Amino acid sequence: MKLRQVSAIVTAQETSDGAGVRLRRSIGTPTLDHVDPFLLLDEFKSDDGADYIAGFPDHPHRGFETVTYMLAGAMRHGDHNGNAGELTAGSVQWMTAGRGIIHSEMPQQRDGLMWGFQLWVNLPARDKMCEPRYQNISPEDVPELEDDDGTRIRIVAGESHGRQGAVSGIATQPLYLDVAVPRAARWEHAVPAGHAALCYVFEGRGEMGVTEADAGRSVGPCQLAVLGPGEGLAVVTGDSPVRFLLLAARPLEEPVVRHGPFVMNTKREIMQAIRDLEAGTFLS
Ligand code: MN
Repeated sequence: MKLRQVSAIVTAQETSDGAGVRLRRSIGTPTLDHVDPFLLLDEFKSDDGADYIAGFPDHPHRGFETVTYMLAGAMRHGDHNGNAGELTAGSVQWMTAGRGIIHSEMPQQRDGLMWGFQLWVNLPARDKMCEPRYQNISPEDVPELEDDDGTRIRIVAGESHGRQGAVSGIATQPLYLDVAVPRAARWEHAVPAGHAALCYVFEGRGEMGVTEADAGRSVGPCQLAVLGPGEGLAVVTGDSPVRFLLLAARPLEEPVVRHGPFVMNTKREIMQAIRDLEAGTFLS
């Protein structure tokens, strides 16, 4: 198995979005616009209600998928079609916005820890105007396993140790793992060749992208490691454990034209989305 090396490390930038939610963004910034097919990666983590209470009131999406993965706290989701539900710690929502969703994402607490991630995954041109679709996965329905070396893996999407993740039927064949490697361990995992691959560390520290010839790069909290070509990833820990998201997916190799919550292939399609929203025909 040819192991992947780290090709770049990007530190997440502090920013705010929605009605004033403080978060850290590692993809979807001037430093790193996108990593095909990943368009955005945010981590929100605060135990101060003032950082998140305003939430994300009604807003549209078109042309891609939003993936929310909660570690702590609770967020209520509701859309224009009456789809609603609460995202609690350990749960996942994979929302295929397709031709259009208008929804809100609002915290269900005034204080206490709110922690999670939102990832945006692009849709191929042929699916950008598809019917919206939700996959809402309860915490207990995310497969969890423990490796020989004590590494714990939650399989949000893709395959690990012959088990399939909770989310299925996504065009870009994503791998989305929440991986916790104990201290003083070496962990190796397959990552499909030809797919874009990333590690986002959110606790501890580890050497990412270790190969026979490369000792890897030390990656810590709020850092994203973009991986080079190969078929697998090796991570080595020392005194500290490390917990990270391992994300991979098939690149689309299509033009990306983004404007806020719309991501299409051409400027004309963006203009159409803006016109549809203004004319009230966005959802029809
Ligand atoms: Mn949204």
